[in-house]
Amino acid sequence: MRDFALELEERKQAGLYRTRRHVAGPQRPSLIADGKLLLSFCSNDYLGLANNPANIEALRNALPETGLGGAASHLICGHHDAHHQLELRLAEFTGRSSALFFSTGYMANMGVISALAGRGDTIFSDRLNHASIIDGCILSRARVRRYAHGDVAALEAMLAETSGHKLVVTDGVFSMDGDIAPLAELARVCRAHDALLVVDDAHGIGVLGPEGRGSVAELGLSEDEVPVLIGTLGKAVGTSGAFVAGPSMLMDYLVQKARTYIYTTAMPPALAMATISSLDVIERDQGRRDHVLGLVSRFRCEASAMGYELMPSRTPIQPIMIGDNHDALALSQALEERGLLVSAIRPPTVPVGEARLRVTFSAAHSQEDLDCLLRALSQCRDLVQKTDVAI
Ligand code: PMP
Repeated sequence: MRDFALELEERKQAGLYRTRRHVAGPQRPSLIADGKLLLSFCSNDYLGLANNPANIEALRNALPETGLGGAASHLICGHHDAHHQLELRLAEFTGRSSALFFSTGYMANMGVISALAGRGDTIFSDRLNHASIIDGCILSRARVRRYAHGDVAALEAMLAETSGHKLVVTDGVFSMDGDIAPLAELARVCRAHDALLVVDDAHGIGVLGPEGRGSVAELGLSEDEVPVLIGTLGKAVGTSGAFVAGPSMLMDYLVQKARTYIYTTAMPPALAMATISSLDVIERDQGRRDHVLGLVSRFRCEASAMGYELMPSRTPIQPIMIGDNHDALALSQALEERGLLVSAIRPPTVPVGEARLRVTFSAAHSQEDLDCLLRALSQCRDLVQKTDVAI
């Protein structure tokens, strides 16, 4: 038998051991984690909708109508009218012909990629794509070629030398760096080389683009240019689940072929009604986007003036680059001692030597919350040895 205990010990020694905190109460910036009140800068609730009264009310109102459990998979008898209504709403929201509601973003990526590419095909995947995309590529049994992060010229060279069916997949907003993929250029090379483009906009939906329609909408890219658009609902939308949107024929194909759609129980239908409510809030409340992006600009200005190394990101994902795993943990720990929750992200989630603190902002944060973070960062500056401090 493999020595699992030894492997766990080795992880601890390398600063790679992962732990979970027990959160009590609703998700919001001030939360109780392991019995301690902390100000959190690590959730993906970018618009502060995870605890939104109108969405909670929509869930409560739907429950007597729909009951609680999904009861069966969609293709057996689990596909409720509430799911159908959400799919129509998601198609309208994304400006696509049709949409399909998945249980999680992880399952959407796994299901979509493995359904749309198979043995003998080639998938081209950005090096920094999310784990669920990587796993979807493996599950597909297609040949996988990774291209350097955001490097459209490198991708184009690979596409040019490859024959057969081609699929290109990218995060819209990269989950650990916060930067945005060069979507217009990707759409151009995909069209030139007859490749199917799949964009996972898990971190762009709700935050970027007109009415929060995401990074693809920000560039005005049509269904022809980005035929497969994936989004998650557990981040800015503040509920749970995910969707794929695109041409009706492709959605029909996914219903036939996407195993993570077919072989799983449908989500509680009342949750679909809460998600519709949340999309309404997202469309009409530009103030939430303006506020969170305002916090981002102020943070970037003041944290970089302290000498912290940031990434070229204009989204609510603002990593502070550290390098060494233990240093990243030490900074996270020092912030926690000052009442702040900011998680250290280490390999394999990020490349070796690129450990970081992933600071994320929410419209639920106040300017005073940001003051607290900046004050603590200023006090902890000496813990980070990698970059020279110019205070
Ligand atoms: N795609 C990306 C880019 C993500 O960051 C994540 C989750 N962090 C997912 C997909 C998975 O989404 P979910 O949490 O709904 O499974």
